[in-house]
Amino acid sequence: MKKLPWHRVKRLKRQTAAQPLQQYRHCPACGEGEKQPVATAPLLALDDFQFFTDQHGMNRADHHIVVCAHCGLLYTNPCYTPAGFQQLFEKAGLSYGHTAGRIIEQVEWLTQHFPQTQSLLDVGCGNGDLLKALPQTMQRFGMDVDQQVLNDAAQRSPDITFKGCDFDGLNDLPQSDVITLFHVLEHLANPGDFLKRLRQLARAGAALVVEVPVIDRAAETQDRDIVGFFTIQHLTHFSKISLENLLAVNGWRVRSAEAMDGYNGWRVVAEQSELKQTEQVKDEAALQAANAYLAVWCDNVAAVKKRIQTLHGKPRIMVWGAGQHSEYLALLTKLFRLDAEFVMVDSDPLKQGQSYHSIPVLAPEQVPESAWLEDDFPIVISTYGGQQSIERLLKSKGVDPLRVLSLYDRTQRY
Ligand SMILES: [Zn+2]
Repeated sequence: MKKLPWHRVKRLKRQTAAQPLQQYRHCPACGEGEKQPVATAPLLALDDFQFFTDQHGMNRADHHIVVCAHCGLLYTNPCYTPAGFQQLFEKAGLSYGHTAGRIIEQVEWLTQHFPQTQSLLDVGCGNGDLLKALPQTMQRFGMDVDQQVLNDAAQRSPDITFKGCDFDGLNDLPQSDVITLFHVLEHLANPGDFLKRLRQLARAGAALVVEVPVIDRAAETQDRDIVGFFTIQHLTHFSKISLENLLAVNGWRVRSAEAMDGYNGWRVVAEQSELKQTEQVKDEAALQAANAYLAVWCDNVAAVKKRIQTLHGKPRIMVWGAGQHSEYLALLTKLFRLDAEFVMVDSDPLKQGQSYHSIPVLAPEQVPESAWLEDDFPIVISTYGGQQSIERLLKSKGVDPLRVLSLYDRTQRY
């Protein structure tokens, strides 16, 4: 490529998919709205959210966070249908990755808390990195929805048993002493039904380890990110109380709970109990914590908007990052409404060669050397977690740092 394919933004008109991508649901914790749907004003609404690169205007969703009037749970409503999941997450690629890098801590923690454990099942195991790092003397099982990832993992680790997982129709479970669910529950449409099924299928006396981010800690841990706690990837937004509630009504009693250091992880150990028939306690604290967090989030959005303003008057702008973060910029700031031509760069092969609001998305290697070294168009880094690595990459390509617009002063890992 000799010249960059600069293009003006054209947001495609939203099209209705053949099968609905979203549907309204009742509260996944207490069932409120099951018999009689209740109209709830959302706490936060991001309408017409496009899932990554253009797909004829079909990959759009309304992202609404609501609060259950009965139990106080924060959850997204409407929620994705199975067709919606498939359609919307197909192109997510690296934007919907597993959180790596905590394996060492998790292994240490597990061996410390369960020294006698003979067998462990990791649900949502991804490529099996956690299982691989556990002692080989342990019988290890992994389950995940992504069959392709499981096949690769099984080939690399023949001593670990991998199995596909249907979260909505779980009917078979490898028997183990410990079951881990690290950052899984918040992604499920029916977390309660899944926990109940897990309770029925698990070995008697099995321990369940669950970790989710909680709203109670969002204001202190989610930092400056404009995606932040209420990311479109989470369907239930737990609090310490609502997680315990959900576990209790589905047959799991919390034995211990702790906050993880340095990121928003709330880790509980639960054991099997009777299904609780008693009324749930309404979680009043969740709404309070959500409001405190939203105040922080609004400040974050304002700070990013201010940086975007500095691009005013630039005829050409490169945006690095065509994932979720860019759609937040599109909906919350004026970036893609500036009177300019754009080009985008992304290192995710699923996005390369596609377009995003009609802007071509290139692989970094496709950008000619002269564009890095001689041109003077600004380069906006559109990611929170990946900001520093992209800054380093641009530096290594010899780009003048004055051309680079980072949207955050500092970033931290969740
Ligand atoms: Zn509820």
